[in-house]
Amino acid sequence: MSNTYVTQPSLPPLDEFVQLLQQIWSSKRLTNNGPFHEQFENALAEYLDVPFVSLFCNGMMALQVGLQSLKITGEVITTPYTFPATTHAIYWNHCTPVFCDIDPLTCNIDPEKIESLISPKTTCILPVHVYGMPCRIESIKHIADTYGLKVIYDAAHAFGTKLNGTSLCSFGDLSILSFHATKVFNTFEGGALVIHDEKLKRRVDYLKNFGFANETTVVAPGSNGKMNEMQSALGLLQLKHVDESIRQRVQLAELYRQLLNNIPGITLLDPIEHLTPNGAYCPIFVEQQSYGKSRDQLYQILQHESIYGRRYFYPLISQLPAYRGLPSAAPDRLQIAVTAAKQVICLPLYADLTAETVERIAQIVRDNAVPG
Ligand SMILES: *Cc1c(COP(=O)(O)O)cnc(C)c1O
Repeated sequence: MSNTYVTQPSLPPLDEFVQLLQQIWSSKRLTNNGPFHEQFENALAEYLDVPFVSLFCNGMMALQVGLQSLKITGEVITTPYTFPATTHAIYWNHCTPVFCDIDPLTCNIDPEKIESLISPKTTCILPVHVYGMPCRIESIKHIADTYGLKVIYDAAHAFGTKLNGTSLCSFGDLSILSFHATKVFNTFEGGALVIHDEKLKRRVDYLKNFGFANETTVVAPGSNGKMNEMQSALGLLQLKHVDESIRQRVQLAELYRQLLNNIPGITLLDPIEHLTPNGAYCPIFVEQQSYGKSRDQLYQILQHESIYGRRYFYPLISQLPAYRGLPSAAPDRLQIAVTAAKQVICLPLYADLTAETVERIAQIVRDNAVPG
C-alpha cells in the first residue's frame, strides 16, 4: 500500500509553468523586483483583499524582517504551541520570547492570560492563527492598544481564511504568510508580509533587499529576503487554482468530522462561527483514559497502516533547549498547551486526498478505541 503523508502539495499543470519559464529565459530577469514579482504581489494583495503585500523567499524571513521593520525590542509575548520559526524569529531579533498559555477552543494564545505577562520591556504580541483558526482579535487589539504594544500575526496557516467576510490577515500591524510546500498555498518555498500602510511597505521592501533605498543609499542593515521570479511566476499560476484546492480540502475536513464523531476519547476543534475555513489541517486530540490508548500508540498504529500523521505541535517550543530555561516556559504555567501537545495528531489532509482514504483513516481511529 502506498504511503499517505500529512500533506501533499498542490501543483498547477506543468506546461503552464513552462510557458512562464520561457518568458523568464528570454527576459533574463531572475530576481530583484522583476515583472512576475510585481504581478504576483499585486494579484496577491487583491486576492487577500489587503492594501499591501511584500513577497519573501520564505515565511521565516518575512517574520524576521517584520519584527525588524517595526523595531521590536525587549520582550515579545507569544504562544508555545507553534512551529519553531515563530519563536526563532524573536530570538534572531535579539528579543526574549515570553510564553503565554493557549485557549483550548482554538489552540491559540489566550488573551485572558496576556496581561499578567506584560512587563516594562514588552513591546509586541506575536500570536499565531494555528490551523487557520482565528485568534481573539478584538481582545488582543484591546490589550495592545491599552499598553501601546505592536501586534504581528503569524498567519502561516491562515491563507484564504475569512472572519465575517474579512481576510484573517487584515488584522494587527503585520501578518506573515508562508508559501512553503506543506502549506495550503505554495510557491515551493515562499512567504509574504501583509502591510497596511505605504511607509511601512517601503521600509519592509528596503529591509528585505540589504537596506537599499536606491543605488547608493543603504538605510539600514537589511537582510536578503527577496522572492525570485521563478517563485513569483509559480505563485501567479497557483493563485488561479487555490480556491478549488481549498474547496476540496474543506470538503474532506468535513468528511473527517462526520466520520470521527462520537469516538470515546477523540475530539476535534469545534468550527468557529462566521469563519470561512481553508481546510489547512485536521487535528484530532486523543484523551488516553477514554480512548484506551495513548496518542503515541495511535500515531504508531497509523504508521503501521502507512498513514503518516504529524504531531503538530509537539514538542512545545517552550520545552526546546533554547527556551526551556525561561521563567515563562515552566510547564505548570502552560497547562493547556502541554495537554494539547501531548494529545494532538494532525491527520493527512490535502486537495488530492481521496474520500476513500479519509474513510479508511477514520475507521482505523474508530477500530482502535478500547474504552475502559
Ligand atoms: C510554516 C510556518 C512558518 C515558517 O514558514 P517557512 O515559509 O517554512 O519559513 C512560520 N510559522 C508557522 C506557524 C508555520 O507553520
